[in-house]
Amino acid sequence: MEQNKEGNNVADDNSDLPTKKTINFFPPLYRQRYSFVNDLVNQHKPKKVADLGCGNALLIQTIKSHSCLELIVGVDINEDKIVSRRCKLSPFSGDYLSPRDLNLSIILYHGSAVERDSRLLGFDLVTCIELIEHLDSQDLARFPKVVFGYLSPAMVVISTPNSDFNPLFPVVTLRDADHKFEWNREQFQTWALGVASSYNYSVEFTGVGEPPEGAGNVGYCTQIGVFRKIGARAATPCAKEQCGEHVYKVVYSVSYPSLQQKEVRKLALVNEVSRQVQSLRQSYISSLSGPQRGDPHRPEARGNGLTAFSGPVFTELEKLNIEKSPKPFCLGNKFYVPLERLLAYPKVNRLCDNVETMRALLAGSVRLSRDSSAVTLDLQDESQ
Ligand code: SAM
Repeated sequence: MEQNKEGNNVADDNSDLPTKKTINFFPPLYRQRYSFVNDLVNQHKPKKVADLGCGNALLIQTIKSHSCLELIVGVDINEDKIVSRRCKLSPFSGDYLSPRDLNLSIILYHGSAVERDSRLLGFDLVTCIELIEHLDSQDLARFPKVVFGYLSPAMVVISTPNSDFNPLFPVVTLRDADHKFEWNREQFQTWALGVASSYNYSVEFTGVGEPPEGAGNVGYCTQIGVFRKIGARAATPCAKEQCGEHVYKVVYSVSYPSLQQKEVRKLALVNEVSRQVQSLRQSYISSLSGPQRGDPHRPEARGNGLTAFSGPVFTELEKLNIEKSPKPFCLGNKFYVPLERLLAYPKVNRLCDNVETMRALLAGSVRLSRDSSAVTLDLQDESQ
């Protein structure tokens, strides 16, 4: 199997080839391929990414935390593979407590990369990681027509085994039983340059998986072509195309919580405000019993105990903003934190940038002062 051949655990049990050793890649080669794509996403900030031949969607799982991404689509011909790890793509509690700025949807389709489906039009990046060598000659001929001619994304990344590297493996065969071919660098580059010129793309060649020292000029274990559409951004799908060809079957779909969703924003704000108010109250209570010697982490609790820079590290500007905002205060057994003070904290400000919206979002979930200008708590009530 390919994973063995390229990977970490091939036992050199062929007595005819005693000098050839297992090649261990660190990180494993598949991880290096995912890192390559991850770096591209980081660099080019695509909004929409489609991974053709996504397998168990591990690449999608690797890149999904990029804040630029709004839609990630995976397509694979093997339905069992796609669904095998789909739960790893679901949001977890941290995604609700600290939501993304932008919406993100992930959709997995069962279908073939050589079929046209209009829902994949208008993408910024299409990745085909270790896919093309699984296509027979008919499908390989259809592949550029669909990916470059029809989908026509701004960027395409294609990776495939480099057969120049294969003699370094203990047993020289195809790396996987399902591979229809493995190209050397010249074959891949000739094909890729032909595709690029037919569909008005440029292409650059690189790879991952460095050969061992002294291996000679064999190139990377995985060769990669990065295609960029010349003089154009991603195609904008027209309405006709959008509702045109839907041949893929949706097998999984999920939407991530984001600050664009009012209920999510409200929940995150209530959480952050409650946390901040409790922390300020705690600082105040601690300051009443005087500064504790030897505790360098509570500098602002000296003085009146109402500044509280505990928690995250603030920049000088952020500290200044907090200091010049209205201070928390106490009246009887009540502790008050003005909304304007809360707004000065960057984590709160990210969720809401004016007092009116904050008041409206907090109403009903957090106790406000009579004039609704501050959040209030009982000073001593730990249950709050
Ligand atoms: N890209 C994944 C990765 O790097 O982890 C999986 C690579 S695996 C070697 C090749 C994948 O391509 C398999 O999951 C296989 O089912 C899929 N595949 C093969 N022919 C396909 C086709 N015509 N359309 C879509 N997927 C295909």
